[in-house]
Amino acid sequence: MITMQNPIVEMDGDEMARIIWNQIKEELILPFVDLKTEYYDLGLLHRDETEDRITMDAGNAVRKHRVGVKCATITPNAKRMEEYHLKKLWVSPNATIRMILDGTVFREPILVKRVQPAVRSWEKPITIARHAYGDQYGATEYPVDVPGKAELVFTPKTGIPVRQTIYEFESPGILQALHNRRDSIASFARACFRYALDKRQDLWFAAKDTILKQYDQTFRDIFQNLFDSEFQPLFEAVGIAYRYTLIDDAVARAIRSKGGFVWACKNYDGDVMSDMISAAFGSLAMMTSALVSPDGCFEYEAAHGTVTRHYYRHLRGEETSTNPTAMIFAWTGALRKRGEIDGTPKLIHFAGALEHAVLAVVESGVMTKDLAGFCEDCLSVLNTLDFIREVKKNIFPD
Ligand code: NAP
Ligand code: MG
Repeated sequence: MITMQNPIVEMDGDEMARIIWNQIKEELILPFVDLKTEYYDLGLLHRDETEDRITMDAGNAVRKHRVGVKCATITPNAKRMEEYHLKKLWVSPNATIRMILDGTVFREPILVKRVQPAVRSWEKPITIARHAYGDQYGATEYPVDVPGKAELVFTPKTGIPVRQTIYEFESPGILQALHNRRDSIASFARACFRYALDKRQDLWFAAKDTILKQYDQTFRDIFQNLFDSEFQPLFEAVGIAYRYTLIDDAVARAIRSKGGFVWACKNYDGDVMSDMISAAFGSLAMMTSALVSPDGCFEYEAAHGTVTRHYYRHLRGEETSTNPTAMIFAWTGALRKRGEIDGTPKLIHFAGALEHAVLAVVESGVMTKDLAGFCEDCLSVLNTLDFIREVKKNIFPD
């Protein structure tokens, strides 16, 4: 039995993901690890009962213990409000936790030999890091219906307003104003440098400073200054590189690359690119997501949701073949990081052995239904629990 020094913050969730969460713990972790967790039930009913205090408590616990693992949770909408008789439309737990940790989200695909990415040259994962503040999200917009002059006005708390003409309209048009904050960009940049170091992978930051000469130049400068003043020797020590690239050039290079790098994107670019990358690598069930704070806290989860459609089937007593891979990798991510921070090599080793077991099963041609569709030589399709038990047989922790 592997012992742990410090706990992982465990955040339980909803629906099919909650059921699989428990199966993963029972079958794949508890038989091998004397698991220490601080447990928070973020299931929707419990969030409702606690007026969502539980989510805040969980976020603060990740701050304290530095490592968390989260199950997918329902973000309520009007339909869910009725279904669960909620007191209120609680906000997304992920948004709450991101706010507490001031974190950046990194999405990384899990590659398996039998499941071919759409881009044949990709041999290693490409991780997208998306800045989750400002720009188009939270923009101010204004439809122009009559001729007139549009101006950009900044009014300092003390001092004289500064005005710039945007455009003199003779015919109808449309306006949009964006903003960002230097501190937010800096913590995004710091999280990206830390993540690349952690993964020992090159970091690309891509924007369009040839057109947005002040806006995107500000992002570029903040990344470069932080690299020069702090991260360059650390990158050199592990043999990785940082480069700034124009976004259009980055797109072309990414398609021709072998993969194996972290791609930092502004908010909108990250939104678009992460869906392109995840679709091209295969499946949401093979994509993990890590929230990294600028002061070195880590929270791991699967990129997919609670898989509601499978859950309703499960409730009707039907068998489901939901893929647990990304959720297993969320656990291994957290166990490995706990091991690294605490200096417990056995825990790090176990995380690797469990990941290896999942990949070995799929590579042997045994998989869940979603992957069978991508794979020419699938030998056998299992239900979730049988797949998990097959993985268990392949764990060699010593
Ligand atoms: P979803 O849970 O990701 O599922 C969408 C579809 O993708 C499923 O119906 C299934 O397709 C496929 N899929 C996703 N994960 C799979 C897996 N592990 N194995 C096999 N197939 C998988 O997204 P959703 O249905 O839009 O959202 C459901 C709930 O999850 C919502 O209440 C939403 O708020 C929540 N959500 C939470 C998070 C989070 O906590 N991070 C993220 C996203 C969504 P087929 O039905 O075709 O098999
Ligand atoms: Mg999107």
